[in-house]
Amino acid sequence: MPFCVQKCRYCAFLSFEAEGSPRKEYTDALEKEIKLRADREKENGTDRPVDTIYIGGGTPSVMDISSMSEMVKTLKRSFDVVPDAEVTLEANPATLGRKDGVMLAKLQAYRFMGINRLSMGVQSMDNDRLHYLGRIHTAENVTRDMDIIRRKGFDNVNLDLMFSIPGESGDDALRDLDKILALGPEHISCYSLQIEEGTPFGEMADSGELIEVSDEEDRETYHRICRRLAEAGYEHYEISNFAKMGVDPDAPSPYRSQHNSLYWNMDEYIGLGLGASGFLNGVRYKNTSDLDEYLSALKEGRLPVAEEHLNTAFDNISEAVFTGLRRREGIRYEDAVRAYLDTDDLQLKYPVSAEEFRDLFWDIFDEAEEEARSYAERGLLIIDSEGLKLTETGIDISNSIMSLFV
Ligand code: SF4
Repeated sequence: MPFCVQKCRYCAFLSFEAEGSPRKEYTDALEKEIKLRADREKENGTDRPVDTIYIGGGTPSVMDISSMSEMVKTLKRSFDVVPDAEVTLEANPATLGRKDGVMLAKLQAYRFMGINRLSMGVQSMDNDRLHYLGRIHTAENVTRDMDIIRRKGFDNVNLDLMFSIPGESGDDALRDLDKILALGPEHISCYSLQIEEGTPFGEMADSGELIEVSDEEDRETYHRICRRLAEAGYEHYEISNFAKMGVDPDAPSPYRSQHNSLYWNMDEYIGLGLGASGFLNGVRYKNTSDLDEYLSALKEGRLPVAEEHLNTAFDNISEAVFTGLRRREGIRYEDAVRAYLDTDDLQLKYPVSAEEFRDLFWDIFDEAEEEARSYAERGLLIIDSEGLKLTETGIDISNSIMSLFV
């Protein structure tokens, strides 16, 4: 849903100001795309149950309720959505309505649609920093929204926190985090601000008007955030993601994002909408990012795909390691090799031992092994009999380590 109330100053995402944008034409086209995609899967015999739906943006909560409801109905009629599917909606603060009654009605409508998880782009709990970022909301909006969201019975809420905002100290970021923790979300995503070219912040950085936070300070704040969240009972299950622990402290948190976990597990997903990406039947594809082209493709009854690429066996294992290393558990040799061989039932056909999976893995990544082991000797990577994972300090140079396997 590529529409927002206004563009944030750091935003390089595909989004347009909602006012004056062809929102109705867009949702009509999106519904056509949903049906076309579902029909194609059925014709090919590759349709399968849908376990998660993620309605992201942009700001989906700026869409009117009737368009959203039609879209969700079309999804449910077109695909076999399992009854207990995780259905997430990105709902930015201050976009749910001005009056309590309106907000409650909108949230009730979301519940009727089957939306059972909300993700709020809070970013900061400091009004000066929110204003600087170009966000439309205040810290008070966040507190009020959370109160109403809870009153409507949503019990799975993610809040996004941004850190390393220019002018913000590590202590400031920790204060923001404490305010977010006080709201008791089940899930918190923490990201450092990236200054992107082509955004107002990018131009300010070029002209020297904006001074980026140094890498050292950024990493120090990140580790302080990780420690604070661990103390508060959140499981650090992915580089940027933290989920509240359930009753069993040794079990994975029940609040891990099932949808995002699917990306990190190399599972397949259908991307729908302007600029959306998908991974389906071994093919990675990307829809056009040109709104006119998107609308006219669907008017002509064509899928709006702009690029597609059939993954090779090496693409599969490389992506499995790359995404797997983002998770706390890391990547197991067995899972990586299964991605390479594109099979789930290897063990049934030919019993393969853990040692053989390990040897197969390092045979494929022969050239990376020496450097990977040197990272392990420096305490940045753990390589054991099952697989590999980053250490807390290894996360700081995760891109360098991951690039060994690309
Ligand atoms: S709300 Fe999100 S998508 Fe919209 S402009 Fe701001 S950062 Fe970009």
